[in-house]
Amino acid sequence: MTKAERLRSLPSVDIILRDPDVTALRESNTLAQITIWVRMAVQHCREQILQNSDTFETPLTAWIIDRVISQSKTDLGQRLQPVINATGVVLHTNLGRSPMAEQAIAAAQRASRYTNVELNLESGRRSKRGERLMTLLAQLTGAEDALVVNNCAAATVLVLQAIASGREVIVSRGQLVEIGGGFRLPDVFCAAGVTLREVGTTNRTYLRDYEAAVNESTGAVIRVHRSNFHLSGFVAEPTIDEMVQMQRPKSVAVIDDLGSGSMIDLSAYGLQEPNVLDSIQSGADISLFSGDKLFGGPQAGILVGKTQWIEKLRRSPIMRAMRVDKLTLAALEATTEIHLAGNALTELPTLRMITTPAEVVRQRCESVLTQLNQQIAIEIVSCEAQVGGGSIPGSSLPSFALKITGFPPHHLAHHMRDGRCAIQTRVTDESVMIDLRTVADHEVSDLAEGINTAIQRTQQNANTETATE
Ligand SMILES: *Cc1c(COP(=O)(O)O)cnc(C)c1O
Repeated sequence: MTKAERLRSLPSVDIILRDPDVTALRESNTLAQITIWVRMAVQHCREQILQNSDTFETPLTAWIIDRVISQSKTDLGQRLQPVINATGVVLHTNLGRSPMAEQAIAAAQRASRYTNVELNLESGRRSKRGERLMTLLAQLTGAEDALVVNNCAAATVLVLQAIASGREVIVSRGQLVEIGGGFRLPDVFCAAGVTLREVGTTNRTYLRDYEAAVNESTGAVIRVHRSNFHLSGFVAEPTIDEMVQMQRPKSVAVIDDLGSGSMIDLSAYGLQEPNVLDSIQSGADISLFSGDKLFGGPQAGILVGKTQWIEKLRRSPIMRAMRVDKLTLAALEATTEIHLAGNALTELPTLRMITTPAEVVRQRCESVLTQLNQQIAIEIVSCEAQVGGGSIPGSSLPSFALKITGFPPHHLAHHMRDGRCAIQTRVTDESVMIDLRTVADHEVSDLAEGINTAIQRTQQNANTETATE
């Protein structure tokens, strides 16, 4: 065929749209979206022909239809939707970290419409955005004042820029961390216009190291929680208490980047994490932490501390670029109320999952097992779950999982993800592990249905493969 003939043989968009396989995509896609995919596929074919590089063996129409269908699959896999977390990692960053409390979900939903985010309904006057939340956060943490930004990374940048820009900030060499996603402390210092003044060594930093580094160009001293790794052995570093005592006469701000922001002592569950209340009580000028780690709320960066410093942050020109929207404010307000009421362990899903006794998790496994059609190679095994999200490294939570063997694990895991309810599992060399610590009771029947369907599909696929061999 000549180039012109090939171009003429290109099917029209309308013809492709009338194909039964393409029409079937209407079930979960809009016509507008499908039309875009078809146009793109036809255009791609046309370009290939014009470049003389078309190597399609299938007829053009079949090739275009295949491409449209594969586009729709990619799109479906990217579409935001609920996922059942059967990984055993509580704060799973790929799954949006903290699931929110019912009250927080309801509050965010209510705030989605017109809401008095900057209006005092009593006086009828304009009010400060999030004023009530800031009061609640201060009450909860014992701090003088509070401020909320988009995430803890933003909080770090804001603090450095607003109180130490053009000056030195002292930090221990053992705390120059990379949080993940390319967020590396030395780069953040640079971006905030702050000079990094490293002190101590990787494993040991003493109070006298900080003391010796303070000079007239010091803007602040910062302690950064290591979060995602653990330092043990021949190590030393001063407590935040000691750092505050040392700086007090010099009026240099002491900043405490806590990361996970635990409000509750979790040592009874074998978990050691710096506590926000302790940090404030020690006299840290500003303590910062994430809203969606152990605080159990929406993504946010929470800053609490002395009015003198928080006010400085509030007036920073970059504050406006970091402020959170009304949905976050509403969800965070509801989450903070749960903490204030002392109900965090029962009402915040994150803390409930972390503190659920292993025996309850085992019973949840039993309950799923009774709802499964096949008893093929599924057993309840004890395993280790994790807090995750860069919190409490090296600690694990005793847990139980359903271990499914006898199927290619990656095939089965794929079918677990693409069912009616997406289910994310843990895949090992020879099995799929379904950790029930991170599955809520109300998800158990959907989970069981998902496992049944996925096993069925994996078997069907295996049969078709054998048949075509
Ligand atoms: C997690 C973490 C951050 C980043 O928090 P985001 O809310 O993800 O931006 C910053 N500092 C520390 C110490 C952390 O643990």
